[in-house]
Amino acid sequence: VLEAALIRARTRQQRHFEWLCDLLRIPSVGTLAEHHQDVERAAATLAGWLRDIGMNGVTLLPTGGPPAVYAEWLGAGADAPTLLAYAHYDVQPADPLEEWRTPPFEPTVRGDDLFARGASDDKSQLLAILAAAGCYLETSGRLPINLRLLFEGEEEQGSPHIADFIARHRERLAADAVLICDQAMADAQTPVITTGVRGMAYMEVEVSGPTVDLHSGTFGGAVDNPLNVLVCLLAALQDPVTHRVTIPGFYDRVRPVADEERALLARRALSDAEALALTGVPALAGEEGYTTWERTSTRPTLDINGIIGGFTQPGHKTVIPTHGQAKVSMRLVPDQEPQEIARLFSDYLHSIAPPTVRLEVRLQAGSHPAVVDPRAPAVQAAARAYERAFGASPVYQRGGGSLPIVHELQQALGAPVVMIGFGLPDDNGHAPNEKMHLPNFYRGIETVIHYLALLGLPEEEW
Ligand SMILES: [Zn+2]
Repeated sequence: VLEAALIRARTRQQRHFEWLCDLLRIPSVGTLAEHHQDVERAAATLAGWLRDIGMNGVTLLPTGGPPAVYAEWLGAGADAPTLLAYAHYDVQPADPLEEWRTPPFEPTVRGDDLFARGASDDKSQLLAILAAAGCYLETSGRLPINLRLLFEGEEEQGSPHIADFIARHRERLAADAVLICDQAMADAQTPVITTGVRGMAYMEVEVSGPTVDLHSGTFGGAVDNPLNVLVCLLAALQDPVTHRVTIPGFYDRVRPVADEERALLARRALSDAEALALTGVPALAGEEGYTTWERTSTRPTLDINGIIGGFTQPGHKTVIPTHGQAKVSMRLVPDQEPQEIARLFSDYLHSIAPPTVRLEVRLQAGSHPAVVDPRAPAVQAAARAYERAFGASPVYQRGGGSLPIVHELQQALGAPVVMIGFGLPDDNGHAPNEKMHLPNFYRGIETVIHYLALLGLPEEEW
């Protein structure tokens, strides 16, 4: 069954390429109203292909936004494991258009690369899953395991409906493991498995004082300036020397990283030289006692994202403004909890704010961190699958960014979430001239074929 599927993948490369081009020609830009019909068309196209390859229960499920495409094949029986595989079919807007060498929705091959919006993020990765299932079903009429597919249509808008959707469809999505196919490899030879993502608490802080802007010659010295107070409060959030967050209790729930996992993550981690080159800063900085890669992945952070207030036009104006505002984001790591961190943040600022101003602190958006044990069989099967398709062992990383769906899926399904992908760091995701390295697309299909086979075998037979 596996051999037949692999042979099919190699003999059907042209068809898989054509699927990819057809999907890329549909400008499924979720965030732009003028493309809403295209988003629907992309969903309908995928549903058609899923029916063609023999998946069952193909449905477009309403979400409140663009439909989620769902399909299943549950013929492996109740004793066989079930995998839920996730990818997204929406894409980022293509602007600025003038920076594209060829039009974003006319897929164009140059060398080994296919250029189009969505080529890497995430249409080729979605199709790697779909094509792998097709290679099995069209040769043997069956898959090695039970498979559920979920293709989302608003990932690029931050998945506003996904938590609610997962909660409502918990039974339909039930699985022993989840595969998310939406990331980049370290390079064309080195696959990556992501074993965690950071969470987020995004705060708004507002300090207000006088009811009207005041003349700083008349009242300066007699009232507290809301902006002066605001920057003092913000400065008190972090120790300037150690870069430790000073909010009491902030680190209480941070789960230490085991030595074994630390060694695994360090194997190919961001070096100081790379970080310097990528950022252009005169020197690096960060939490005392941790390396650059730990600071960007396994440790929590606090950043002021913007400060609003007062007079900012050219020239000068001597004013005591009525209020000042700041946006502060904190990246969270397991087991920090966004609501609790928001409360600690708010309590701390209120405890140090002077009685001369009014302080308001709000949680604007929050998401949970998530982590999966690299030793989990579902993760190790992905490592073996990569080895067979790419001839190289993967490196492991914890993602520094936030992907709320990981926690939502883990909570709702109680299943480990494995994050893999076949993009490259220079694919220009979200940017002009996005591309997919075509050899990675074809190896990606083979990786998923191997993954399904491995999950169907007991570990000792891998
Ligand atoms: Zn993506």
